[in-house]
Amino acid sequence: MEFAYTPALLELKNRARDLTERILPFEDECEQNNGLCEQSHAAIKQAVLDTGLQAINTPAEYGGAGLSILEQVVVQDELGKLTNALWDAVWRPANPLAHATAQQRERYLIPEARGERRDAVAISEKDAGSDFSRAKTTATPDNNGGYVINGEKWFVTVGDVADFLIVLAYVEPEHEPTMFLIDVDTPGVKITNVPRYTHTFVYEHPEFVFDNVHVTSDAVLGGVGQGLELTRDWFTEERLMIGARTIGAAERALTLAVEWARERVQGGEPIINRQLIQGMIADSVVDITTNRALTHQVAWEFDNADPNDATMRKTLHAKAATVKLAASEASNRVVDRAVQIFGGRGYIRDYPVERLWRELRVDRIWEGTSEIQRLVIANEANKRGLENLLSFPNPADEK
Ligand SMILES: Cc1cc2nc3c(=O)[nH]c(=O)nc-3n(C[C@H](O)[C@H](O)[C@H](O)COP(=O)(O)OP(=O)(O)OC[C@H]3O[C@@H](n4cnc5c(N)ncnc54)[C@H](O)[C@@H]3O)c2cc1C
Repeated sequence: MEFAYTPALLELKNRARDLTERILPFEDECEQNNGLCEQSHAAIKQAVLDTGLQAINTPAEYGGAGLSILEQVVVQDELGKLTNALWDAVWRPANPLAHATAQQRERYLIPEARGERRDAVAISEKDAGSDFSRAKTTATPDNNGGYVINGEKWFVTVGDVADFLIVLAYVEPEHEPTMFLIDVDTPGVKITNVPRYTHTFVYEHPEFVFDNVHVTSDAVLGGVGQGLELTRDWFTEERLMIGARTIGAAERALTLAVEWARERVQGGEPIINRQLIQGMIADSVVDITTNRALTHQVAWEFDNADPNDATMRKTLHAKAATVKLAASEASNRVVDRAVQIFGGRGYIRDYPVERLWRELRVDRIWEGTSEIQRLVIANEANKRGLENLLSFPNPADEK
């Protein structure tokens, strides 16, 4: 067993830290204006390209950084320190695009890897959230081999700037769940509402309506009937990345809280000398270190699993749920304690701990709520037993 970063991973971590430090100065602008001006977006884009951390999940031959899952976790752990979700300005094409045809790659994936296009993933609907298989958006075959899409989608992150959407719809009359690539300027695609959320996010999460939207057959991504499978794969990867980002966020909050506790004098001495404060610090160290280790372990398991082993894929799906559940809940505890250590200042939006506390709340909701992660884990325990879920992989399981 090796628990040290290799020189290559360390170099990557330092590069991700440099990028994070170049983006940090944009936090206040984003918080104050609920977004960034064009020049700031351009400066961040240049920083991403300079550090070579564009499209980290996309093969280098298509213009991405071509990182393994463990390498991506190392990068996300650093980027997670950014407030205002500025980590999302470091674009990473949604993983269903790995199933793009050569033509779709040219049109969508390759320009997105360069930072010239941007996707948004539209699965959730008003009446289909945790149970996304209940989505009502339909794709009805037209007479020219294409489809007519009708329905609505909620919570579409980056939907305000995306120029194409990856939409889950049911091909009728067979009712086959299918992903579609839809350009937002296609007639019939409309943003109907842009709600304000608890967090200040560099992008919006608008609601879309699809009103008789005509697409050709080459808008189908990954094959008719593959929509739920692609959605699950997307969730699995995203859940690991949420684990990594929330741990990075928790580290930043705890670092600030410890610095503050050393500095802040009340009752004649620094509050860090108070055992009640020390308890919060110690519990936060435990939350961060245990979850960072788990996130790295499971990411390593993803990289070393046989992609053709269907059983292992299901176990890893549950392990990603374990990571997401544990890390998002733990880092919410950490940021809450950091606010407490800062006292009244922890409740002011100018302080990063306040923003992290507001922003991390959604990590217990999106990409599957904490309750849904528990169901995924318990379902795996019931179906395939606890052994794989609880153990490290055997050497025989490795590639
Ligand atoms: C800021 C934000 C951004 C988002 N971005 C996107 C996006 O880009 N694309 C996208 O498609 N979606 C996105 N979502 C949607 C998100 O994935 C859903 O909100 C989430 O899956 C929960 O669905 P829901 O809100 O409909 O809640 P519901 O499914 O209605 O759940 C309500 C409550 O019931 C619980 N519950 C539901 N089913 C069960 C069950 N079987 N057993 C026990 N408890 C249960 C839930 O855990 C929750 O506590 C985003 C959401 C937010 C808030």
